[in-house]
Amino acid sequence: LQLSLAIIKPHAVKNPVALSYIRNVIKNKFVVVKTKRVTLDQETAGNFYIEHEEKFFFNRLVTFMSSGYIDLHVLGHRNAIQLWRTMLGPTKVFKAQFEDPYSLRGMFGLSDTRNVAHGSDSIASAEREIKFFFPDFSFY
Ligand code: ATP
Repeated sequence: LQLSLAIIKPHAVKNPVALSYIRNVIKNKFVVVKTKRVTLDQETAGNFYIEHEEKFFFNRLVTFMSSGYIDLHVLGHRNAIQLWRTMLGPTKVFKAQFEDPYSLRGMFGLSDTRNVAHGSDSIASAEREIKFFFPDFSFY
């Protein structure tokens, strides 16, 4: 079973319509292996997004991701990484709204930073991200 890490971002956790919808689609498509609701301090959020350290949006992203509760879900499916990213839709919200309006980002995205949720983009990053938030997680 392939695993992916989904992070529901703070604005979506605060929006009961978005959150119920997202939880339903997750439950219907994936085995939810682990779930945890946490808040991040800026340092932890910065370490999670370390690959974007040099980007112009880094501070904005880190400030937003540490602004409220986030929901973490380890998702299992034979094609978990691709499937979750397809369900999310394009990173950029204007693109999501025009090209894939019924994707999660198309429906609930507010901006390129407040774009509903995160999804691992490869097997290696899924492993890193799951270990980052669930250090005791056993992959075997
Ligand atoms: P994620 O890794 O969160 O699933 P992604 O792989 O689609 O998203 P990345 O390019 O890795 O997109 O960017 C990581 C995060 O940085 C995005 O989820 C988004 O919130 C933020 N981001 C990316 N591009 C921009 C931008 N142009 N302006 C503001 N925030 C951005």
